[in-house]
Amino acid sequence: MPAKTTPPAFESWGRYPKHRADVVPLYWTSDFPLSAPPPAPMLAVGMGRSYGDSCLLDGGTLLAARGLDRFISFNPANGLLCCEAGVTLAEILDFAVPRGWFLPVTPGTKFVTVGGAIANDIHGKNHHVAGTFGCHVPRFELVRSNGQKYDCTATQNRSLYEATIGGMGLTGLITWAEVQLRPIVSRRIKQDSIKFTGLNEFFALSRESQHLEYTVAWIDCVATGKNFARGIFMRGDHSEQPEELKLSGKPKLTMPVDLPAFLMNKGTIGAFNTAYYAKQFAKRKTGLIDYEPFFYPLDSVLHWNRAYGKQGLLQFQNVMPWEPGEYQEGFTQLLKAITASGLGSFLAVIKTFGTVKSPGMMSFPAPGPMIALDFPVRGERSFDLTEKLADITAEYGGKMYPAKDARMAPRHFQQFYPQWQEFARYIDPAFSSAFWQRVTALA
Ligand SMILES: Cc1cc2nc3c(=O)[nH]c(=O)nc-3n(C[C@H](O)[C@H](O)[C@H](O)COP(=O)(O)OP(=O)(O)OC[C@H]3O[C@@H](n4cnc5c(N)ncnc54)[C@H](O)[C@@H]3O)c2cc1C
Repeated sequence: MPAKTTPPAFESWGRYPKHRADVVPLYWTSDFPLSAPPPAPMLAVGMGRSYGDSCLLDGGTLLAARGLDRFISFNPANGLLCCEAGVTLAEILDFAVPRGWFLPVTPGTKFVTVGGAIANDIHGKNHHVAGTFGCHVPRFELVRSNGQKYDCTATQNRSLYEATIGGMGLTGLITWAEVQLRPIVSRRIKQDSIKFTGLNEFFALSRESQHLEYTVAWIDCVATGKNFARGIFMRGDHSEQPEELKLSGKPKLTMPVDLPAFLMNKGTIGAFNTAYYAKQFAKRKTGLIDYEPFFYPLDSVLHWNRAYGKQGLLQFQNVMPWEPGEYQEGFTQLLKAITASGLGSFLAVIKTFGTVKSPGMMSFPAPGPMIALDFPVRGERSFDLTEKLADITAEYGGKMYPAKDARMAPRHFQQFYPQWQEFARYIDPAFSSAFWQRVTALA
């Protein structure tokens, strides 16, 4: 049996809530099931880049799958990669980019594992054309706590395939997976950044950019009055000019300590947002940009979450269904509630999701506008705000993203994911998570 370690406790990226469980590292796919039954329940985890408690357990055993880090096979003719589930997207890029291949879908950090990417069925800036990560995973192996192994595809063990994509790690351990990469000839992205003011302008830019592969916008979530909903819309495509495909450098900066929580306040956030908006002087800026700053601006500073202090941060991410006509009342109400609170941070992005359907039964993305933003944890003030945002989401028929959540009430989760009881049939009886226990508790 692999050696057991206790401290340090496994933290999620938001560092809230704090729970403690035993951590058992896995190094070989044969390490699971463990030879001696560990304290129940269990949950596989990757890099802990989920913000809330979907990668945490309060008691029980976390199976740290990051040690399953081997590449298994690669077909250079069609870009089909097979690797163990603890391989990170950063490692795939280091392997694939010099060979002329790129990730089919990537989140805003490359420090996530393939297992984590499948379990949360992550999305990226190309959701409107490529769908979710799960759309590009034709096969994976799932191992259940009773030792049963399932080769899962869209036709073989189909129910477990669909329940595991977006299944929040609850259906068992993913040991390896196939990922379909996409070809590139350059590291660079043809980027177009356009300043906008107001949601109508944002929606118009989204509509006219649907033919481009990547779209996302940064939004100033503290500006009010004539500056309400101002932001910078970024869109781009992979450059078609062939050039040398070099390896990326390693991040050089690390946030060395937890910053005092008071530094993250309305004044500093407002000042940062104003400076960020003013940084781009022209209404529109076009150019070639390396994929690292385009996709992963935050990865250049390791442990940037320490900027929120020891209390940590909450992330709120939801999607709202399109309302008829141009005016999107629900999304506007949501943004007004955020700006009125003055609690939002400078890390706020909006995007419109497309209609590509995921195979995942519990997958989060759905057509409509989505917002993702961070809040410093400020006790009841921040909890009241996230509850209010959840209420608005529920009122307008939207849903929130479990990978980013630490506060969703059972009534909200069960409304957002009405299929949750059907999904529960596929949960491994020995698996659970702090998130699942919270959102399925009797209201
Ligand atoms: C800066 C930043 C930007 C982000 N941007 C985006 C974004 O744009 N889009 C997006 O969708 N997400 C985004 N995320 C969230 C992140 O992509 C997901 O939370 C992702 O799932 C984290 O992967 P991980 O390896 O850290 O897994 P963890 O956070 O450790 O675990 C996530 C889930 O995967 C399960 N899991 C992990 N490994 C396995 C395995 N081997 N078998 C079974 N289950 C497993 C866990 O049980 C858990 O439910 C972002 C996060 C950060 C910090």
